[in-house]
Amino acid sequence: MGMRIKKFVASTINEAMAMVRKELGEDAVVLKTEKLEHKSHLGLRSKTEFEITAATHDNSLPPLIDRMTRNAQQVQEHIRNRPTLTATGEPRLTLDPAKGKPSSGVAPLNQPYASVAEHQTVRTLKAELESLKGTVRELSDQLRAARLPDVPPMLAEIIGALDESGLEDPERTELIIECMRSNPHIDRMERSELMGWWIEKLATAMPVTPVPQDQVGQVVFVIGPTGVGKTTTLAKLATHHRFWGKRKVALCSIDTYRVAAIEQLRVFANIANIPMTTAFTPEELKQHVTRFIKQGFEAIFVDTPGRSPVDGSALPDLVDFSNAVNPEETMLLLSASSGLSDLQEQFNRYRELPVSRIIATKIDETSKPARWYGFCRRTARSISYWTVGQNVPDDIMVADPRLLVRGMLQPDLFSDLKAARFRLHAVGDDNANPRERETAR
Ligand code: GDP
Repeated sequence: MGMRIKKFVASTINEAMAMVRKELGEDAVVLKTEKLEHKSHLGLRSKTEFEITAATHDNSLPPLIDRMTRNAQQVQEHIRNRPTLTATGEPRLTLDPAKGKPSSGVAPLNQPYASVAEHQTVRTLKAELESLKGTVRELSDQLRAARLPDVPPMLAEIIGALDESGLEDPERTELIIECMRSNPHIDRMERSELMGWWIEKLATAMPVTPVPQDQVGQVVFVIGPTGVGKTTTLAKLATHHRFWGKRKVALCSIDTYRVAAIEQLRVFANIANIPMTTAFTPEELKQHVTRFIKQGFEAIFVDTPGRSPVDGSALPDLVDFSNAVNPEETMLLLSASSGLSDLQEQFNRYRELPVSRIIATKIDETSKPARWYGFCRRTARSISYWTVGQNVPDDIMVADPRLLVRGMLQPDLFSDLKAARFRLHAVGDDNANPRERETAR
C-alpha cells in the first residue's frame, strides 16, 4: 500500500485541517505545519496563511505492485523452464559425460536461442524490480524522516531549529535519515549527546576552507553581484594583508562604471596608504599588474564591477579582464541575505570565471545561516571567509565550520558576533587591530 502526500494552504489552521480531512479522509497523517507570511509588494501589510503537509494511504499503487509481482512470478516461471543461466546471463552448457552431448534441459546448440530476446526481457524486468525496490526504500525513509511526530521530541526540536535556520530538502531529509540510522537508540540518548552528533555531523559535512592569509595568491579578483559588499570586503582584506600579514599590497579598480565605487576605494587607499590605480581595458589592467609585480607587490587586489544578477552583459568583459592577468585567486562574494535558489543562480552566472573561493557576505544580516550548508553541498564549493558588518577592517572572519553550525542552531549568534567584533586573523603576538594600536600609542 502506498502513500499519497499533499499540501493544503488556507488562512487558518482549522480551514486547512478541514481541507485535509475532506480530501484525504479522517486517517490522514499531518507531516508538517508551516506558517507562511506574504508581504504586499510594498512590504507594508502582510498576510498570514497556514500550509499543512498531510499524507494518507494511496490505493492507486497496489495495481502497480500487483503487476510487478505478476511479472516477477512470470520471470520465475520462465527461469524454471529455461536452461540454466550463468551469472553473466549466458546459457550454461553441461556435457553429459555418457553421451558426450549436451545434457537434457539444455537448449541444443543449433536451435536459435530464443532466450536471447527473452533473456533481455528478464534482465530488464530484474532491473525494473531493483529500481522499484530502491524507490520504495527511499520513500519509506523519506516518510519516516518527514513524520516529525514519530521522531523523538529531542530530535524534532533540533530539526525545528534547523528548519528555522533555512535547512532545506534534500539535505534536511538526508541528515534526518542519517541521524536515525547512526543512532538506533536515539530514544535513550542524552540531549547533549544527540546535539553533539549533529554539531559534529554538520561541521564535518560543511565544506569550509579556511585560508591562511599568507597563502592568498598574488593577483586576487573580487567579483560578485551589485551591492554584495565587494569594495568593502576588498578594503577589509587589503588592510589585513597590509597590517597583519605585512605584505606589500596594491589595489586596482576596473569598476569604472561607478565613479562612486572608485572614489570609495581611493579614499580607503589614501587612508591606508596603499597604492591604487584604475584600468579601463584588459590591456591597461595587465600593464598595471605587471608593473606592480615588478615593483615587488605581493598582493594585488582587483575590484570589479557588479552587475544586477539578472543582467549577464558585463560578464564577457569581466572574463576578458580576468584572462588578461590570470589571477591566482578569484573570490566570489555572495550575500547571506539571498535565498538558496538565488545563491545557486548567482553562482551559476559566474561559472565562466575561475572562482577559487566563496566569501559569504552580510552574514550578520541573516537569520538563515543553514542555507550555506545547502549551497555548499549543492555547488560542491566551500566558503573561505564571511563578513559580519560594515566596519573596515574588523568585520571579516576566516570561515569556521563549527561556528557556522552553532549559528545554525542558535539563530542570533551572528549578530552577537558582530557586536563582539571579530577579526579576520591574528598573526603572531600582534593581536591588536590597527585602530586599537593607534589608540594605544
Ligand atoms: P559592492 O557594490 O559589491 O562593491 O558593495 P559595497 O562594498 O559598496 O557594499 C554595499 C553596502 O553593503 C554598503 O553599505 C556596505 O557598507 C554594506 N556591507 C558590506 N559588507 C557588509 C556586511 O558584511 N554586513 C553588512 N551588514 N553590510 C555590509
